[in-house]
Amino acid sequence: MIQEFQLRALPEQAISEQALKQFIGREKGLDIRTIHSIRVLKRSIDARQRTIYVNLKVRLYINEIPHDEEFVRTEYRKVENSPQVIVVGAGPGGLFAALRLIELGLRPIVVERGKNVRDRKTDIARISREHKVDPESNYSFGEGGAGAYSDGKLYTRSKKRGNVDKILNVFCQHGASSSILVDAHPHIGTDKLPRVIENMRNTIIDCGGEVHFETRMDSLIIEKERIIGIETNTGKIFKGPVILATGHSARDVYRWLHSHGVQIETKGIAVGVRLEHPSMLIDQIQYHNRNGRGKYLPAAEYSFVTQVDGRGVYSFCMCPGGFVVPAASGPHQIVVNGMSPSNRGSKWSNSGMVVEIRPEDLQNDELRMKNEELGFADDTDSVLSMMHFQEALEAACWQQGNMRQTAPAQRMVDFTRKKLSYDLPESSYSPGLVSSPLHFWMPPFIANRLSKGFQQFGKTSHGFLTNDAVLIGVETRTSSPVRIVRDNETLQHITVQGLFPCGEGAGYAGGIVSAGIDGERCAEAVAAYFGLSVPQN
Ligand code: FAD
Repeated sequence: MIQEFQLRALPEQAISEQALKQFIGREKGLDIRTIHSIRVLKRSIDARQRTIYVNLKVRLYINEIPHDEEFVRTEYRKVENSPQVIVVGAGPGGLFAALRLIELGLRPIVVERGKNVRDRKTDIARISREHKVDPESNYSFGEGGAGAYSDGKLYTRSKKRGNVDKILNVFCQHGASSSILVDAHPHIGTDKLPRVIENMRNTIIDCGGEVHFETRMDSLIIEKERIIGIETNTGKIFKGPVILATGHSARDVYRWLHSHGVQIETKGIAVGVRLEHPSMLIDQIQYHNRNGRGKYLPAAEYSFVTQVDGRGVYSFCMCPGGFVVPAASGPHQIVVNGMSPSNRGSKWSNSGMVVEIRPEDLQNDELRMKNEELGFADDTDSVLSMMHFQEALEAACWQQGNMRQTAPAQRMVDFTRKKLSYDLPESSYSPGLVSSPLHFWMPPFIANRLSKGFQQFGKTSHGFLTNDAVLIGVETRTSSPVRIVRDNETLQHITVQGLFPCGEGAGYAGGIVSAGIDGERCAEAVAAYFGLSVPQN
């Protein structure tokens, strides 16, 4: 017999299957010897009150062995003789596009500028060790895209549950833990992601698709407003419709599109800093307990949002028990981001703390001056103006960081008091920190709003505004500074037939899951372009 229950348990009552059996047996008056197994269907932590609860939906197999799989399997076809589709970029957008093309009977040819996910690791380690950023192999470029050496948080604001479930199930089929189907805030972890990504690549190749690493698309071949294919740095030409999933750090792609008259438009972004606290402190605040999270709870999360002087100030990509990482994609830049391993076991918790910037804000004199001061053109009317602003800020940060990957940093209260930090706390950022007056050199448009935001967050969350926390500059790659404009129905570029702008770089996604969903949608749009019928997921 199968029975399902909604439960509210203490963390220690839900820590293992055995503990849960005993709890459910007691709660529901069941003989636990009859419970063959328990499957958790949904799990979330309720930390709003002093006593923390785990809310669960469980399925009990009473005197019965489970026969159903924990995830829904997707059938992939053999496509070696099918029409080919070029997928540029092997991030989540490109990989999910390629897998969905296979499902629909089309043959993906994936072209990726970076290295395979394992070899990429060496280049990533070199950034911290030697302060060298390989412009083709870094936290943004390489197999798995920006999603590979990331946190692997898989929650999204997407309302279409079916689409989200499909992405999570495909991850499980390729080796992710089925807990991602259960947790309210699913998370894979940077230690587990590379294997999952390799398995996805193997599915593509086993089905007859191709994956080309260290192959950069240098130009699109367009004739009479129709795509013919792409040309690469290896001298190869690949022909077919193109799914362009190159991510938000491929600035050469934006420049190429702009200079060749392929329509793009400026988009708002958010920029700021990474804020790092000792994880113990965040656990104490969020779990209302001076002993922190104890033995049974995960590292605590937080989320803040407010409006300051007409612009949003908010926490972004929070990484409990994680690390701050050097995420530049080229020389003469400092860009920071965050990631965490699956156990979220580090001594620190960090998040991006960012201020919203709209294209019209670049008309603002001080932002304009910052660009000019750093030698970036005064091009506030250009569609690339937001990208130039990102570049200017990243270059300023590199100068402040002693022209290495050491990042400029300031204690949190010092920042709000406009005071240089005398010393800095220990940090997870492995290239090292340099004490720097962020309040002084960051544009006041951003620094003042961040400062006011921190003061508000400190009031709502006692202990959050503290000099034990450190701001690390700068967080600029929160989303794409450009939209590659496509038609809402056909998902083709508005003037170039057969070109499908996809994922975060095109301005249609933000995060791993939404890029994956957009990849699937683009694959379906290509199938429709070939006149194939598209079964719903
Ligand atoms: P990308 O992942 O950027 O992939 C684009 C790919 O295209 C890259 O592999 C690049 O090498 C390739 N490419 C670029 N130009 C070319 C070219 N000319 N020719 C060939 N290939 C090219 N999101 C979350 O949802 N959860 C998280 O926990 C999370 N943590 C993050 C942590 C870090 C450190 C970083 C950097 C990002 C994180 N993100 C996270 C964001 C997430 O990774 C991105 O939103 C997502 O990867 C976007 O997917 P995409 O496929 O659109 O683009």
